[in-house]
Amino acid sequence: MIITVSEHIKNSDLDSIKEYMSSKNIKMKNIKDNMFLLEGDTYLLDEQSVLALNDVLCCNRITPIYTLARKKNNEQTVINVGDVKIGGNNVIIMAGPCSIESEEQLSAIAIELNKLNIKVLRGGAYKPRTSPYFFQGLESKGLTILSKIKKEMNLSVITEITDKDELPLFKDVDIIQVGARNMQNYELLKALGRQTKPVLLKRGPQATIEELLLASEYILKYGNPNVILCERGIRSFDKHTRYVLDLSAIPLLKKLTHLPVIVDPSHALGDYKFVESMIYASVACGADGIMVEVHNNPSESLSDGFQALKLEKLNSVLEKARNVARAIGRDI
Ligand code: PEP
Ligand code: MN
Repeated sequence: MIITVSEHIKNSDLDSIKEYMSSKNIKMKNIKDNMFLLEGDTYLLDEQSVLALNDVLCCNRITPIYTLARKKNNEQTVINVGDVKIGGNNVIIMAGPCSIESEEQLSAIAIELNKLNIKVLRGGAYKPRTSPYFFQGLESKGLTILSKIKKEMNLSVITEITDKDELPLFKDVDIIQVGARNMQNYELLKALGRQTKPVLLKRGPQATIEELLLASEYILKYGNPNVILCERGIRSFDKHTRYVLDLSAIPLLKKLTHLPVIVDPSHALGDYKFVESMIYASVACGADGIMVEVHNNPSESLSDGFQALKLEKLNSVLEKARNVARAIGRDI
């Protein structure tokens, strides 16, 4: 971090800045006139507190504040889920319905996914819906169905948690999803940091890349190294799509962090017609995985039916996505 102090700063004020820094084990080096380089664990410094010190004019970070999430020496975290490696050379596919609606529905979808060799089944049991009048999910009953299908079909499963008190019910879940709306639910993030199941953290629609990485930092800091980031679209001014898929976030995150990055094209555009092209684009941009909503009968889906890819389309989409992956030296 570099701080600039006023040229009229009194010696006593400069001394108190030095004392403040030294109490935090930070060394201050005068690099030019009234500019100082701060050396040490500067991620512990809160800019607001530094700027509040007498006659500090500005402070600029050089090293990112997300110290555990940031990429050092080209490292890449690989997370093992069943026999799938998330963050390795293969682009992994997670697919399933938006919501678990019944055992029959989830089983019918899982059978088809199994045929396509898809190893990770998604399905929401706790559904954070924008309207309280819309389907809220089967909750614990949904988790029981998910667990049954997981065992019968030998699949790994991912589902969303909405409250830390639900955690004991997630014992059979392989990846715990934090939804976009909960990206900054810090008590939930801390609780997920205190356990070791992989966590898929979705980017909030209004969140900057730094806010997403700082949210992941909570889980890492509390002890869980198994964090997967997910781009799922951010808010824009255009009404044609639900959100805007921030494709640029993919190479950017791959550069800034060692954590695997996956893309959810379904919630981003909210329209099944665009899901296919966004899958190809995401793979081309370097995504480590895709999480896509599929349904055996979208018109009867209890949530997000319009964005669900028809199951029978999935095979040909994956074939093309595989070609894109191979073009950039990866595979699906
Ligand atoms: C979901 O994946 O089911 C979901 C609700 O997504 P998001 O949190 O991205 O809206
Ligand atoms: Mn959905």
